[in-house]
Amino acid sequence: MLPTLFKITDAEWEIMRVVWANEAVTSKEIIAILKNKKQWKAATIKTLIGRLVEKGALHTLEEGRKFIYSAAITQEESMDVVTKDVLSRVCNKRKGHVISTMIADTTLSSADIFTLKALLEQKSTMALNEVLCECVSGQCECEEQHH
Ligand SMILES: [Zn+2]
Repeated sequence: MLPTLFKITDAEWEIMRVVWANEAVTSKEIIAILKNKKQWKAATIKTLIGRLVEKGALHTLEEGRKFIYSAAITQEESMDVVTKDVLSRVCNKRKGHVISTMIADTTLSSADIFTLKALLEQKSTMALNEVLCECVSGQCECEEQHH
């Protein structure tokens, strides 16, 4: 469970990927992995780790003179937050288009497509004729069309 619905920045996400892939890591290991990909200074990486600990995204375990970091949130939970965040930025009426673009731009396996087809099949049984715009007045073109 997510402790709070916090946002992980792009830079912090890079750190989380290392922690998720390795389960338990020291800052030294994180620095070694990200040094080549990102050209970040060790101090920058330590700052990012500190922020993630503060946010409750990382657990800290003190072992002798070093700290071992592990993930307090799963990659799946975090992915869900990101997905919801992306879709929360557009009008309800445009979400279908965003998802279509994502699918069009993504390489999918047969298994992925099978799952998507089944999901769409299930969705089609309860589809609405029109998705309702729930935007704040003045933030969406939908409303202008009604006037
Ligand atoms: Zn709208």
